[in-house]
Amino acid sequence: MKDGWEVVIGLEIHAQLSTETKIFCGCSTHVGDEPNANTCPVCLGLPGALPVLNRRAVELGARAALSLGLRINETSIFSRKNYFYPDLPKGYQISQYDRPFSERGVLEIMTATRDEGGHAREWRPLTVRVTRLHLEEDAGKNVHEGLPETERYSYVDLNRAGTPLAEIVTEPDFRTSWEAYDYVNHVRKALQWVGASDADMEKGNLRCEANVSVRRVGDERFGTKVELKNLNSVRFMQRAIEFEIERQVNTLEAGGRLTQETRLWDDRAGETRVMRSKEEAHDYRYFPEPDLPPLTVSAEFIEGVRRSMPELPDARHRRFMEEYGLTFEDASTLTRELTLADFYERAAKAAANPRGAANWLKGELLRELDAAGVGADASPVSPEELGALVRAIDGGKISGKQGKEVLVEMFSTGKGAADVIEERGLAQVSDAGEIERIIGDVLAANQQQVEHYRAGKEGLFGFFVGQVMKASKGKANPKVVNELLKAKLSE
Ligand code: ADP
Ligand code: MG
Ligand code: ZN
Repeated sequence: MKDGWEVVIGLEIHAQLSTETKIFCGCSTHVGDEPNANTCPVCLGLPGALPVLNRRAVELGARAALSLGLRINETSIFSRKNYFYPDLPKGYQISQYDRPFSERGVLEIMTATRDEGGHAREWRPLTVRVTRLHLEEDAGKNVHEGLPETERYSYVDLNRAGTPLAEIVTEPDFRTSWEAYDYVNHVRKALQWVGASDADMEKGNLRCEANVSVRRVGDERFGTKVELKNLNSVRFMQRAIEFEIERQVNTLEAGGRLTQETRLWDDRAGETRVMRSKEEAHDYRYFPEPDLPPLTVSAEFIEGVRRSMPELPDARHRRFMEEYGLTFEDASTLTRELTLADFYERAAKAAANPRGAANWLKGELLRELDAAGVGADASPVSPEELGALVRAIDGGKISGKQGKEVLVEMFSTGKGAADVIEERGLAQVSDAGEIERIIGDVLAANQQQVEHYRAGKEGLFGFFVGQVMKASKGKANPKVVNELLKAKLSE
């Protein structure tokens, strides 16, 4: 950012709620079916068809709202947002306008300053005011096929029409592109965590628009904002904002004027381009949807949703540090996903060693899982077996180094820790009687060295340890060997 300038950013996110059926009809929300297979008179917009609100969409909307610290309104109103587009057969979208489902959220997120390469340097809290979260239906899709120079057809696929969305809008509270980046990631994770949405930007079930303006430091008034679209990943959004900051500052410094417009990010070209100016913008002529009654949710309903939600990521992160003594970074890694956090807590219990379980999970098992592209919920090594492995190491049955090999085999075969240790004949000999016998043999075979040692040549101790380990084929527990050897030699 050029000296003397400040950027102001507000974000709008559309998240698809993970319902089985659409928001105002019983059609499936399944993706990948034949075009227009999942349609009916309601989502086709046929005259006279009446919408009926899907209760599950309201539940998931409530989960989303609560996970982001919003208040849910007891009564909210659906409104018609009128505009024409081929993927919107009704000629209007059912959305919410002046009385949204939920509003006035205060969300605390963590954000980092970053170096040139985008690596997080230092984390600090940031308070974001979430203006509103409202419910609405998605539009269909226009599909363009064929080559322009031969035959090119455009089709309309209405399978997506009527899929429930939560639109989440913030106040213009972000002052860097990375703050915006960290916020979108926070929202994405929160929605996935509570099961409200898959929130996958690549699959398009989370879409994001950034409103960006610049002003001179010290100015009270906001500058003219530009709305950025076509941001297909969080990183694209961050880059698009950076480009836009530079473009706006350069324009203003050259004495130019900015127009309020919508611009599209072209990642290949690394620039934003005008899509439409605000003069061409629609007047949506919102009015209350006459075919739907006001949506009323009771305090009991909200309480029920709240009770059914898992402990939120930040609370769990804090608890992992306090209850299990994990570092900030370890707690962050292990609360990356809900399934991983659950896996960890079970493993910690089974291991009776929370720190040990954390080390083995994040250091070894997670590497295998990530390499295989498998989530913790589908791990071939169960939390209980990871715990058993940690106990075997803590109890001196096998060494840490052997533990790594055992884990790799557990992962590839799905066998339990005890079975792999047994089959590989890895179990260390910790039995004092057995080790004493080996020591006796070794000392008897090396009488001369024993005399030298007793005469003060203590450097020979390592030699005896080596001989005992060799005689036990590497299976003797080194700690026990050390103790017993010392005792024997000083007799
Ligand atoms: P619109 O009616 O154009 O959609 P809104 O006032 O509803 O505008 O705001 C849409 C988004 O733009 C919100 O996230 C808001 O915080 C953000 N926003 C509003 N004004 C500015 C501005 N001057 N600079 C950056 N973002 C802004
Ligand atoms: Mg807008
Ligand atoms: Zn339908």
